[in-house]
Amino acid sequence: MVAVVKTLPPEVVAEAVRLGIKDLGENRVQEAQAHQLVVARDAARWHLIGHLQRNKAGKVPGLFDVVHSVDDGEVAVALARRAREAGRVLPVLIEVNVSGEASKFGAQPDVLDALLEQVASLEGLELRGLMTVPEAVDRPEDARAAFARLRELRDAGAARLARPLPELSMGMSEDFEVAVEEGATWVRVGSALFGARA
Ligand SMILES: *Cc1c(COP(=O)(O)O)cnc(C)c1O
Repeated sequence: MVAVVKTLPPEVVAEAVRLGIKDLGENRVQEAQAHQLVVARDAARWHLIGHLQRNKAGKVPGLFDVVHSVDDGEVAVALARRAREAGRVLPVLIEVNVSGEASKFGAQPDVLDALLEQVASLEGLELRGLMTVPEAVDRPEDARAAFARLRELRDAGAARLARPLPELSMGMSEDFEVAVEEGATWVRVGSALFGARA
């Protein structure tokens, strides 16, 4: 489980880590920086789960252990270069826009094959799997098809690349149980742990 700490005061994040949380999810590079003024960098694993702009890529290797939200080739190239400069190999997932909403981040399924091949070939990144944020639904059960679709895309991608893609990052407070049933290896849970965000 990735405990999503976006918008939380740093003291709350520190308390969560004291209570045993090992994985923290952040939406923004700058907020992670603010949290790390209070929570030691090595007290937890830091996951970037929000959209990444290319001009912020330079900060990522120093702040994060895993990036879930790579969704285009240019960002991937920038991230790979920055990881190499930092002497690191950064685990990444590709975010997929499974439901095809125009307004959302994530690679469209029809460009996924090309993006998987590109990211897999970049020195400095270790391609680990896929992530999705499905469109909001009224009942958790209604998200099942999107989770199953991400798993199918992962299976197809792994077969094409002829290498395992072990991680599926999917499921949030409202629907993580359905996501686990469909094969999630990371669920990203915020409000169910910390209460509603202001
Ligand atoms: C905010 C957020 C979450 C957590 O959402 P909750 O509904 O509070 O559990 C998970 N993933 C992403 C990408 C988010 O932005």
